[in-house]
Amino acid sequence: TIGMLALDAEGNLSGACTTSGMAFKMRGRVGDSPIIGAGLYIDNEVGGATSTGVGEEVIRTVGSFLVVELMRQGYSPEAACKEAVERIVKKKPATAKEIQVGFLALNKKGEYGSYALQSGFTYAVCNEQKQDLVIKGKHIF
Ligand code: ASP
Repeated sequence: TIGMLALDAEGNLSGACTTSGMAFKMRGRVGDSPIIGAGLYIDNEVGGATSTGVGEEVIRTVGSFLVVELMRQGYSPEAACKEAVERIVKKKPATAKEIQVGFLALNKKGEYGSYALQSGFTYAVCNEQKQDLVIKGKHIF
């Protein structure tokens, strides 16, 4: 999945996501990306979130909606992403080692963060102050 979240100069949020789906997926399978609230959710009052990984797990928790609702309650973007991942793990602790689920979030103030179950989740940031690539929690430039 490629997920994108944006905050424009007037403070309006938007987002988009794409996916190739899962490898060896069943014919007709619908992943999380095309389902608003699962793979992507934006609330212009609060923030936006998008996900990657095993879509079925994200759909079951309405993951991106959950991340935005947690930010509404005061969670930082990263803490909201972490809580959403932890809820998925709590429901299926046995499979947690085998699957990837990750969320990226941006709030109305322009704060952003992410959290993923496994390593390998990266994202890039571009704003007036900087262009940044975040790999495994480390800011690269
Ligand atoms: N989330 C996608 C899906 O389940 C897979 C991906 O991360 O691209 O369809």
